[in-house]
Amino acid sequence: MDNRVRRWKEEYKPLPRHTHLPMNHFITYFDAVNSIGATEAGGNSRFPYTSEYREAIEWVKKWMREIGMSVQEDAIGNVYGKIKGIHTHKSLMLGSHIDTVPNGGMFDGLLGVLSALTAVESFIERNGMPKWSIEVAVFADEEGSRFNHGLLGSRAMIGEIDEEALLTYRDDEDTTLSEAMTADGLNPDGLKSAERDMDEFIGYLELHIEQGLVLETNKQQIGVVEGIAGPARETFTFIGSADHAGNTPMNMRQDALIGASELITSIEQLPAKYSDTAVATVGKITNSPNGTNVIAGKTTVTVDIRDIDRDARENLIDAIKERASSIAKTRGLRLETSNSIRVEPVHMNDEMTNMIEESTNELNLTYRRMPSGAGHDAMLVGKKIPTGMIFVPSKNGKSHTPEEWTSLTECLDGILVMERTIGKILSGYKES
Ligand SMILES: [Zn+2]
Repeated sequence: MDNRVRRWKEEYKPLPRHTHLPMNHFITYFDAVNSIGATEAGGNSRFPYTSEYREAIEWVKKWMREIGMSVQEDAIGNVYGKIKGIHTHKSLMLGSHIDTVPNGGMFDGLLGVLSALTAVESFIERNGMPKWSIEVAVFADEEGSRFNHGLLGSRAMIGEIDEEALLTYRDDEDTTLSEAMTADGLNPDGLKSAERDMDEFIGYLELHIEQGLVLETNKQQIGVVEGIAGPARETFTFIGSADHAGNTPMNMRQDALIGASELITSIEQLPAKYSDTAVATVGKITNSPNGTNVIAGKTTVTVDIRDIDRDARENLIDAIKERASSIAKTRGLRLETSNSIRVEPVHMNDEMTNMIEESTNELNLTYRRMPSGAGHDAMLVGKKIPTGMIFVPSKNGKSHTPEEWTSLTECLDGILVMERTIGKILSGYKES
């Protein structure tokens, strides 16, 4: 067993409310997937369309089949496990993703998928065939760690991809998405077929770690998510002149990296001017030619900008753009701007949110209603069908690092809420 998983398991003190859950399956698969792509730095790297990812998804499919699900994988790599209900023409969808950021943690995404499978297995065990079908979705390339875009699977499912552009995305090794998909045994020519008829779904429910400090700080067990802040990514490329570091006087330089750094530094102050909830981050830069004795000729920075308030976010983006162009102008640099991702903030479905809240109350768990600052597949799916999200606490608010931690008790409590909410959604659903 993975050492981290062993510690997670050993910390757990059994609680009567968890005894009906198939805890062994949950722990076994959590361990199996987290053993794949484990890094020396203590985290996990499972990037889309790699052999690590393939190995991990096969574990998930194995559990799906054990539960009695039929398993489908579409052209972009989304995997759906389906349990037939008494009525089969509509399904409730649950899900999340199992890819990670570089050296990420054990819980982001994976917990949502395995929670869904645990909750479904338990639900079927206790109630027999569900009234309506249930599907568990594992969405492809949520994080965008390899091709810098993200949410590919859920975007393809709702029919919002530009097929041609997508296939030309390149990773840091210059492999195109199309090549990576082909190498993984998928069919990049058939991407359109990944689109689903969203009328088939009653709704979508996703459990995720909070990735923030709010639940832990307020000593609450469950977050009932009311809305998701849509992320936007803007890319700024400063183009100057790659000259000799020795022979070019300081006043005759067009240094792209200095321009980029000025933008990065100024971005820290900007969000607070537009809203209390807005955030902006530069986490990635590429610099060329990136040599010790060469002035940078071309530097690209990608800015990630988020808010639950759409207008505030747009104003902030405009301000960042203005800042970038004024820096370029002052420094005699050329500026190229492009936006790679722009997702609208999404409100969760009120009825589903209420059902999650009721479930939490019935289980005597503490909770709060809250927004999600991070983007999730639920944000895409939620544009098309009624969607709800359950948060469980993140220790010290840490995420996207090996320190990511949610105790087994907290995970199982989240699964209880999910199981109960599934029951409410299925019994409450009436065809219109
Ligand atoms: Zn995630």
